[in-house]
Amino acid sequence: MKTKYIFLTGGVLSSVGKGVTAAALGRLLKERGFKVAIQKLDPYINVDPGTMSPYQHGEVFVLDDGAETDLDLGHYERFIDTSLNQVCNVTTGQVYEEVIMRERRGDYLGGTIQVIPHITDVIKQRICMVPKTTGAEIVLVEVGGTVGDIESLPFLEAFRQMKGDLGRKNSFYIHVTWLPYIGATGELKTKPTQHSVRELRSIGISPDMIIARSDHPVEEELLDKISLFCDVEKKAVIPMETTDTLYNIPLMLEDASVGEFIIKKMKIKERQSPSWDAWREMISDVRKKKPSVKVAVVGKYVELLDAYMSVREALHHAGLANGVDVEISWIHSVKLEKEIDISILEDAGGILVPGGFGKRGTEGKIKAIKYARENKVPYLGLCLGMQLMVAELARHHFSEKDANSTEFNPSTTHPVIDLMPDQRDITDKGGTMRLGLYPCQLQPDTLAAKAYQTELVQERHRHRFELNNAYRDELEEAGMIFSGLSPDNKLVEIAELRDHPFMLGTQFHPEFLSRPYRAHPLFTAFLQAVVKHSNR
Ligand code: GLN
Repeated sequence: MKTKYIFLTGGVLSSVGKGVTAAALGRLLKERGFKVAIQKLDPYINVDPGTMSPYQHGEVFVLDDGAETDLDLGHYERFIDTSLNQVCNVTTGQVYEEVIMRERRGDYLGGTIQVIPHITDVIKQRICMVPKTTGAEIVLVEVGGTVGDIESLPFLEAFRQMKGDLGRKNSFYIHVTWLPYIGATGELKTKPTQHSVRELRSIGISPDMIIARSDHPVEEELLDKISLFCDVEKKAVIPMETTDTLYNIPLMLEDASVGEFIIKKMKIKERQSPSWDAWREMISDVRKKKPSVKVAVVGKYVELLDAYMSVREALHHAGLANGVDVEISWIHSVKLEKEIDISILEDAGGILVPGGFGKRGTEGKIKAIKYARENKVPYLGLCLGMQLMVAELARHHFSEKDANSTEFNPSTTHPVIDLMPDQRDITDKGGTMRLGLYPCQLQPDTLAAKAYQTELVQERHRHRFELNNAYRDELEEAGMIFSGLSPDNKLVEIAELRDHPFMLGTQFHPEFLSRPYRAHPLFTAFLQAVVKHSNR
């Protein structure tokens, strides 16, 4: 079979769930036995989101190969359960970087470099690299933002050209829009969708399918209207009402026969009929009334929950695995820093400190960690959450209030977390951390080994600082166990506390590998301890 491409554009508004829709479509095709990959094209000029503030962009999702990518890649991987690679996230910055590098090298032989064809050619090459590097038979390509944005024009032009390059039956265009609800008259409006499709047509793209998102049920006659005005077959106008759980979206699309329609239109031979039993079971588990436990997540970006997307998902996956609902109480680390009264932590069955950069809020996190240690509340620390757990124990053990990571106090008397020698001379910020998958050897009879039930694991990293080996012995004396080490023994990857029901920190980010029906072992073990603590 020739590679099939499905192009997704957005209309009317951003943040209507285009990424999740792409992920769900991917699942629909995977269920039919096809190898699927999904690519996100981001029109901003940053080379990757790694240098962007989580307030601007939400979480940075890290792939096996160390690519720092858009959080939609997290949705993709969780839905299609396939590890993607760096070509699956392309930005305007990357495209221009390549074109300018080629120009400087003299590759264009005196030509004038222009958006069309030079920029669009590189975009098309990047799209075609997805099947080459992933082996995908069907590639979904989503462009960020909405039609009408100046910066997405070259991407849309590349989409348009690809219809000619690939042929009609190998390309399929889906436009995801939003139907606003007018409270005064109690009706949904299709006009913005019509305008957005007109805008798309003016660029030369006619959608084959419209997915109309809304917060309210969409009546048949509205679908008729969209079909008529936008010139899209009625069967290909798909209403998608906001649902209680993201993981229900593939089932909604399946019920609307979206998979069948796409396969038929693209002349793809059916391979297997989808079997949704396991997925449906998961949704019914999600919806089942379950006892609830509370986990306090202490972070500095809690105003924007997108910043902790994978952590939140991983907690919910682990909740499912333990048969409980996880209620997350988001605690602002900066506020906690100033707070004398920390009773907000009292009703938490567990405390989690996620990753982060920069000093702001770190003392608030340390306060939460101290509380977890002293009161034997289950604790899970992710990356920075592990580093601060080490700093907190050192402060306690050495009776030195200034034990710290050199990231926050370069002149600390006890630099228990420090830069690795190979990081010292690096000045560039982009893509220079310890990134991606690294092996971790588990030490027998530890919480970590019990959770994973294996000896060697691979986990995704994104950090510059590490536990300072000069302090290993003293930290062990203080009650710490290094339960996960790099196979050469040089790096501490997991630290846990003796004489505590569950206090564990990881230098890596386990949240990136959690899947809805395959919760991450460390999150599952943490939640198990949370349930126990909540029922005590
Ligand atoms: N700022 C810390 C470091 O660079 C932790 C990073 C993180 O939590 N991802 O090592």
